[in-house]
Amino acid sequence: MKSTTGRQEAISAVINYKPLVNAIDLEGETSRSLYGTNVFNDTVMRQLLSRPIYKAMRRTIERGERMDDSVAEAVASAMKVWALEKGATHFTHVFYPLTSLTAEKHDSFFEPDGLGGTIASFSGSALIQGEPDASSFPSGGIRSTFEARGYTAWDVTSPAYIYENPNGNTLCIPTAFLSWTGEALDHKTPLLRSMQALNLQAQRILKAFGHDDPGMVTATAGPEQEYFLIDRNFFFARPDLLNAGRTLFGAKPPKGQEFEDHYFGAIPERVLAFMMEAEHEFYKQGIPIKTRHNEVAPGQFEIAPVYESANLAHDHQHIIMLTLQRMATKYGMACLLHEKPFAGINGSGKHVNWSLGCNLGNLLDPGDNPHDNAQFLIFCAATIRAVHKYSTLLRTSVASAGNDHRLGANEAPPAIISVFLGEQLEDVFNQLKIGEASSSKPSGTLTIGVDTLPHLPRHAGDRNRTSPFAFTGNRFEFRAVGSNQSIAWPLVVMNCIVAESLDYIATRIETDMSGDPDKLNTAVQNVLQEIACEHSAVVFGGNGYSDEWHAEAEKRGLPNLRNTLDAMPALVTPENIAVLGKYNVLSEREVLSRYDILLEKYCRDINTEGLLALEIAKTKILPAALAYQAQLATLAVNLVGLGKTPNTAMLDKVIELTDSLETGIHALEHALEHEGDDDLLTHALSYRDSVLPAMSQVRIAVDILEGIVSDELWPLPTYQEMLFIK
Ligand code: ADP
Ligand code: MG
Repeated sequence: MKSTTGRQEAISAVINYKPLVNAIDLEGETSRSLYGTNVFNDTVMRQLLSRPIYKAMRRTIERGERMDDSVAEAVASAMKVWALEKGATHFTHVFYPLTSLTAEKHDSFFEPDGLGGTIASFSGSALIQGEPDASSFPSGGIRSTFEARGYTAWDVTSPAYIYENPNGNTLCIPTAFLSWTGEALDHKTPLLRSMQALNLQAQRILKAFGHDDPGMVTATAGPEQEYFLIDRNFFFARPDLLNAGRTLFGAKPPKGQEFEDHYFGAIPERVLAFMMEAEHEFYKQGIPIKTRHNEVAPGQFEIAPVYESANLAHDHQHIIMLTLQRMATKYGMACLLHEKPFAGINGSGKHVNWSLGCNLGNLLDPGDNPHDNAQFLIFCAATIRAVHKYSTLLRTSVASAGNDHRLGANEAPPAIISVFLGEQLEDVFNQLKIGEASSSKPSGTLTIGVDTLPHLPRHAGDRNRTSPFAFTGNRFEFRAVGSNQSIAWPLVVMNCIVAESLDYIATRIETDMSGDPDKLNTAVQNVLQEIACEHSAVVFGGNGYSDEWHAEAEKRGLPNLRNTLDAMPALVTPENIAVLGKYNVLSEREVLSRYDILLEKYCRDINTEGLLALEIAKTKILPAALAYQAQLATLAVNLVGLGKTPNTAMLDKVIELTDSLETGIHALEHALEHEGDDDLLTHALSYRDSVLPAMSQVRIAVDILEGIVSDELWPLPTYQEMLFIK
């Protein structure tokens, strides 16, 4: 039988896929030698800027000093020359609005010269500030429509770069995006503010430890991005993937991930070619990509760069997400960044590795002597205290409709925020409670419990994958972050709440010491002991997936905010608003606007999914089920005509399922009718409590039908096809 479904066409197209050959032309260069060639980095600046201008620029980058107009003018002029040489015709201020996408508006360098020709121009003011017409970006009411202007402001700490396209290149300038009243409309602004706050408080601790010039303390981040790849033909045959990023229907394939034959397996050739070309792009843009491998689920992969300053890591993360998607297209695939593209198959996260660094090195590195160990323990304890005290804020930073399908689903950490320290460090932390030395190691200069810190392995062997927040030898790894989200918001929260802890600890130590360096030991000892006693509830080394942990966590008073809407009210509690405000990370108005934006996004996401589920069920699944019914019914009638008694068991089953599909469709239609003129949270709750369950009902009928309706009639590419055909 000749099939007419889009699915069959997709399958033939996949079978006929011709691999790209010689896609990268290195022109005799190696990828490595091209590293950073498209970045206006320090080396370029040193070459192109005069000494005083270069120095002024460094002062702005390193110490946040204000930049003179004359300096901006000189930098802009050098940047223009460099960009034109690189073939750029346009420049753009890249910004990161709260849609979590990357936004850009391109302007040509060329202007009419009044003589019938053009002249390339790029002024200091065009570099420093832009004014995109940004009235349709979410602002949560901050920017009323009559004052719809927003402006972009150059972020000097993130270098400009060239974005290549076969038809021309563009100079990209990373920027912050603000309203005219100076309020943040983006992800970058609070990230920069939070890094400043963290530096300020960390300096006080380092000063107490006797470091006079440790340099700026920077939050560092290394995000590990998980993603799925499927053939592009399947992607286009699935309206749900195309428009919602996840499959709303699809029966579990006979062969799932239980065979564990994909994880760290050989990377399929087409995928490897795709990865290599993507990496080639990343190298040119100075993105230090390091790791690539297959992930747990079939069709799932991971990419991770070497860590960088959190701000740069954030900007690079956006480029990584965009490039993966663009490059997948080139190789005939679609890159799925959604947290849960396939039900019953592992979802995707983005582990955000986080630490603090300065000239002294990594401040979360245990160190080799008691003094360093004590300092390490202070930073470690500050983090533990912060995560305990502000666990609800941290939880909201990873809340989204997509991540709700993943967190707590026995493949990703639970929604309960706890800290995994590893056996040895947990033991040390417990010893701190009693404040005693526990081993016979001879005393060094410090006479406190931390004297006897055992040698901590840098790469702890016992990786607890069930913990949302784990110490992994020299950094913390925040594992609850969703694959599709900007890493900025989790980093903002981390930086801000740890700044608060460091502030608290610094004040305690400064008061106890009252200027006498000999009192450092006791001061450190006291505050560590206090934190160990008060915040050990958040430390948990066991299995985070187990039911016992849920019960135990409740006993310990740890919140379990199961989904986005359980979590969101925590964003606007007085404590959480206060901590963001105290360190000038976000004002109350800015927090409230984000609350609205996040809830609106939640509603929009589920509304889209609900409408798509309806459309697919009505226009694709129901017709297929009815067509199969017709085939079976015709057969039955024919058999009766021949004097036979037909077996109508299958026909009965299909009729029954079709009925329940229709009932489901009506219920979903009804659920989607909610008007939403009440408050935003109530409206969002109707999506969670009415629309999502109605979608599940429809899905149950559809997925059973998939298992019995004739394969030739089935309209949607199946999980089996999407996940296993390479
Ligand atoms: P794993 O999958 O074993 O956790 P990966 O090598 O995939 O490890 O990723 C670890 C990530 O942690 C990398 O991006 C790495 O650069 C990052 N990382 C290492 N040290 C730090 C640090 N001090 N601060 C932030 N991130 C770090
Ligand atoms: Mg990893």
